Amino acid sequence: MSETLAPVKPGRLIINGEAVEAASGATFTTVNPATEEPITTVAEAGAEDVDRAVRAARAALEGPWAKLKPIDRSRALWKLGDLVLAHADELARLETLDNGKPIFESRFVDIDMVARCFHYFSGWATKLTGDTTSVNPGWFTYTLREPVGVVGAIIPWNFPMIMVGWKVAPALAAGNTIVLKPAELTPLTAIRIAELALEAGIPPGVFNVVPGKGRIAGEALVRHPGVDKLSFTGSTEVGQHLMRTAAETLKKVTLELGGKSPNIVFADADLDAALRGATAGIFYGKGEVCAAGSRLLVEKPIHDEFVAKLAERAKKMQPSDPLDPKSRLGSLVSKAQLDKVMSYVETGVKEGAQLVAGGQRQPVNGKGAFMQATVLAGVDNRMRIAQEEIFGPVLSVIPFDGVDDAVAKANDVMYGLASGVWTRDLKKAHTVAKRLAAGTVWVNMYNFYDPGMPFGGVKGSGFGRDLGEACLQEYTQVKSVWLNLE
Ligand code: NDP
Repeated sequence: MSETLAPVKPGRLIINGEAVEAASGATFTTVNPATEEPITTVAEAGAEDVDRAVRAARAALEGPWAKLKPIDRSRALWKLGDLVLAHADELARLETLDNGKPIFESRFVDIDMVARCFHYFSGWATKLTGDTTSVNPGWFTYTLREPVGVVGAIIPWNFPMIMVGWKVAPALAAGNTIVLKPAELTPLTAIRIAELALEAGIPPGVFNVVPGKGRIAGEALVRHPGVDKLSFTGSTEVGQHLMRTAAETLKKVTLELGGKSPNIVFADADLDAALRGATAGIFYGKGEVCAAGSRLLVEKPIHDEFVAKLAERAKKMQPSDPLDPKSRLGSLVSKAQLDKVMSYVETGVKEGAQLVAGGQRQPVNGKGAFMQATVLAGVDNRMRIAQEEIFGPVLSVIPFDGVDDAVAKANDVMYGLASGVWTRDLKKAHTVAKRLAAGTVWVNMYNFYDPGMPFGGVKGSGFGRDLGEACLQEYTQVKSVWLNLE
């Protein structure tokens, strides 16, 4: 892991197009969870910095950004996508150092998604239109589709740069400006992408970054009267708090709050494909994925054989140095997260689940927040490990008996983010897809995303959508104009 020693420049706030220190001079250290070594220091935003960033975003919204033709906005966003690709190695390395995820994921999956977000949404900048309406022959009535204004985005640590793409690309395409607070654990790629945005020709003040603590910088953003809309991805608890606080200033709010997603394998499925999908569905991203298929529902006739094969596959997935291109299971984001995940494994065993693979911490080179790919079988849907978001490489396997039982168990959680269905029977696939209470259903695939497909939840997983045309509704508002021609 000697690459960690290559210097990473200190991170600063990006406000009004400039990299600046915090007004208080405060900094924090961001740490590589795989080596437990410091990566660099980062300026820590306080309320005063957030205020400066919001004012800069407001000035840009009413100034240079509003004056830019949509086609030029589009070109700048496209160029930012190109610059992300041009800096792929640098960004991927920063992401892996900060988060602990395998470089394979940062470099070959996440980078591509970030660039695609900017490329895809650049096209929308020229295509957002209002309508003319027929109300009265003597009147001319029409609607304008306008940006909501200054967007405050608060993002988590599991996909730090993908979240920049998901939030910033559509917000800017729709003509908004943004102040983004990355997670304290993973601030580096957001700062770097904001620098690249300036290089792409996005005017100063349009995209600001205020790294810092959630309860200080995040809270200041949520309370700020100059912020018109909040887009949040993170835990249910913080999402609820944020919504209550945002009510004071009547902000528009969208919340993506994680899940406990069912991945359902019917006996008639292509079992090899389902096995691969079940494994990738939970162990990709170390299971620190809001849509992780963390509850695997397996139909009884194939249950025992499937679990045996699953355990075999999980045991082969050894945690390893995330900077090694062959690594497919990196370090969890922090020791605290590892402790939390391990406590769930203990709870599961106490509740009566059987540990059929993993279940142990496994430091690499004596260090890091690594743990084994873990499978708990014989899980009852009422157990805590079936109901609560663990956010780590831990799979709970639950047997079921037929379609009704599968749907009942799948929906019997507070969350409703994603779900998977494995079957060769098309009628069954569509019927189950319709009955699942989830924002996304993958059939004979799992964990696929595209900027053109909306993503978000129902029930305890929040509301509003990221991505797709649907998310542009969240970043625009409609004005009605009435003109008397008589
Ligand atoms: P949080 O919800 O605390 O963090 C998400 C973001 O919100 C971070 O940027 C955080 O800042 C910020 N934040 C925290 N408190 C406030 C506040 N009072 N006001 C405004 N912003 C705030 O998630 P955690 O990182 O604590 O993770 C805890 C659990 O949440 C995980 O174990 C997992 O179960 C779930 N989670 C779900 C995610 C998802 O994708 N749905 C993503 C991450 C976590 P800071 O980092 O500085 O605290």
